Amino acid sequence: MRELVRTGRYVMTIHALDAMEDDELTVFDVERCFLTGRIVERQRDRARREWKYLVEGWLTDGSRAAVIAKVTRTHRHMVCDICGKRGARIRRVTRSFGKGKATFLIEAVPVVSCPKCGEGYLTADTLREVERIRQKRRRLTKGRLVPVATFGSLA
Ligand SMILES: [Zn+2]
Repeated sequence: MRELVRTGRYVMTIHALDAMEDDELTVFDVERCFLTGRIVERQRDRARREWKYLVEGWLTDGSRAAVIAKVTRTHRHMVCDICGKRGARIRRVTRSFGKGKATFLIEAVPVVSCPKCGEGYLTADTLREVERIRQKRRRLTKGRLVPVATFGSLA
């Protein structure tokens, strides 16, 4: 389990990434949670014949957190890590990260999307690269004038 995290053999769904950003956590917080935590619950997904773990751990700021991890058996190219079926594609998307004044965009983020189960997810390598970019964003970003609208502003 810890070995999977250490060696980056995990993926995170877009849904989990959104929750992580909302809580202002980084992927390193989540990784640390796994590396220092313990498994408090094990659930068997019968249909997919794989295990889900509820892990409780400590974040980099010392607070406690719980995360759910799923160890998937497939790590082959173009096989979806979530449902195990073939047909996954890599889409390059522009995504905003951070909140308020710390908000910035990264273009061409590789997101694996699966037409079979509808999930979108990022690999550990991608998540770690995003964090490295976040840490060096002052040097790596270029200020660009982008028109921004707020949904609901038509009235
Ligand atoms: Zn899938």
